[in-house]
Amino acid sequence: AKEDGRDNVKIFQPEMANQASRQFHYEQALRIAIQEQSPFVVVYQPKVDAKGTIVSLEALVRWHHSDGTVISPGQFIQVAEEANLIIELEKLVISRVIHQVALWRNKGLQPIPVAINLSGRHLLSRELYGFVSELLDQLQVPGEWLEFEVTEGVFVTDIVKCIEILTTLKQRNISIAIDDFGTGYSSLNYLKTLPVDVLKIDRTFVEDCAISREDGKICDTIISLAASLNLKTIAEGVETLQQFEFLRNLGCNEFQGFYFYRPMPLEDIEALLEQLPAK
Ligand code: C2E
Ligand code: CA
Ligand code: CA
Ligand code: CA
Repeated sequence: AKEDGRDNVKIFQPEMANQASRQFHYEQALRIAIQEQSPFVVVYQPKVDAKGTIVSLEALVRWHHSDGTVISPGQFIQVAEEANLIIELEKLVISRVIHQVALWRNKGLQPIPVAINLSGRHLLSRELYGFVSELLDQLQVPGEWLEFEVTEGVFVTDIVKCIEILTTLKQRNISIAIDDFGTGYSSLNYLKTLPVDVLKIDRTFVEDCAISREDGKICDTIISLAASLNLKTIAEGVETLQQFEFLRNLGCNEFQGFYFYRPMPLEDIEALLEQLPAK
């Protein structure tokens, strides 16, 4: 080949080309999967109250590849954002969840709220409200069975628009949680102006809360802050009894993590919903 005479070209260039083409193929595969829809599977992780009773669910997406592997969202959400595919992907998840809630109601199962993760871009897009609203109307699902989890980064980009959009969602009784609370560009100022319902304490603080004075204090502060603003708190990534007891004693309202339940497929969730005490 031509490059043979130059070491740097021979070694460097093909590698670059490989990486670019790998990225291209990955995006292409993602685009096709989103069009097909069926490669994406939604699993559900229960959230519990201080007694350990399931009170709601979080929907988490998985990509089932044709070769049999299951890809976790950590590996494709960012690619979807970069390739401008995130809104399409999230619409797919929203639609799946609302259809599922409608099915559960028709089966006579005790309905509980389902939380859906939402990117900042989608939250700020003009199409979100209409899309969600139409599905809720069409399937006769009350908005109170939906919650959106958004990360605090989006509030920095356009706080006025965030307030406006969150207010319209709240008018439909959809609740709003701030996900990964404490890890972003926190400004305590936005908390008093934003119509949010829940602060979700990030796993990084929960991890060592019972053994590190600093992390314990951070959890304590978030829980007190939330209480003083009339917001609920939920701790994510609770893996041990010690973490659960520590946070419960601080007054944390809800808990989510492997100590209680892992994200589970539909059949397992339905079995759990069937056992829920009637309200
Ligand atoms: P997240 O919203 O912070 O979701 C929690 C993640 O922590 C989930 O990972 C969940 O499986 C995992 N987790 C739950 N309990 C525990 C625990 O006790 N210990 C540990 N170590 N991990 C726990 P997953 O499903 O891989 O999701 C990763 C991230 O991908 C999510 O983080 C979320 O930001 C994003 N994501 C997932 N589904 C969607 C979606 O439908 N749309 C969007 N935009 N993002 C999504
Ligand atoms: Ca989340
Ligand atoms: Ca989270
Ligand atoms: Ca987190």
